[in-house]
Amino acid sequence: MNIITNDNLTIEVIKTKRRKTISIKIANGSARIIAPEKISNFRLEEIIKDRTVWIRKKLEKSKLIISKPKKYINGEVFSYLGHDYKLKILPGIKSHVKINDGFIEVSSSKRFQKDSVKNVLVEWYKDKAIEVLVEKTNKFAEIIGVQPNAITVRYYKSRWGQCSSIGKISYNWRIMIAPDHIVDYVVVHELCHLLELNHSKDYWNHVLSNYPDYKECHNWLKANGHTLIL
Ligand SMILES: [Zn+2]
Repeated sequence: MNIITNDNLTIEVIKTKRRKTISIKIANGSARIIAPEKISNFRLEEIIKDRTVWIRKKLEKSKLIISKPKKYINGEVFSYLGHDYKLKILPGIKSHVKINDGFIEVSSSKRFQKDSVKNVLVEWYKDKAIEVLVEKTNKFAEIIGVQPNAITVRYYKSRWGQCSSIGKISYNWRIMIAPDHIVDYVVVHELCHLLELNHSKDYWNHVLSNYPDYKECHNWLKANGHTLIL
């Protein structure tokens, strides 16, 4: 569930039985509230109202941090599917990446060169992108009732995906930095182009019926897309 404040701040709300208190988390340019299951929406809105200024400040700070150029040094934060991991550079003969206990561990054969760590990471994100995006595309293709002819991953400077007139879908691998539900939206967005190869009203109706939260994701990408960099 999402709450949108008067000044157009989108806050994701997660209600859980495991919580007795409320916590607000800011990561990756988005805000999330984790609250006890029984809390009323009225109470939630009240709390958000009280904390709006704080949330906005934190959000802006988090955006600044993640849009700074990466240095590829130990302890630097990298996001994968919206989760933050601290970079840990390990010695190694082979190039390798592993997510382990809050860390993204990278071993690079030329580990003292900044570019080397970067290249190893980029290749890892691309591999993950193919794996995850093919799986998601197949899952949503079945739900929507369409079948793409090919799925590829590449680099785009300013778009997240593309669907050609012959049904080939290409994704920008950098979408893997974004939260999982944003990646889902991009997949649904491209798959719906198999029904309508435009952004007409009919097209957006297809998106809406297959991904009701699409607007929030669309706006999130507009606001945060520039931060999805390696
Ligand atoms: Zn489109």
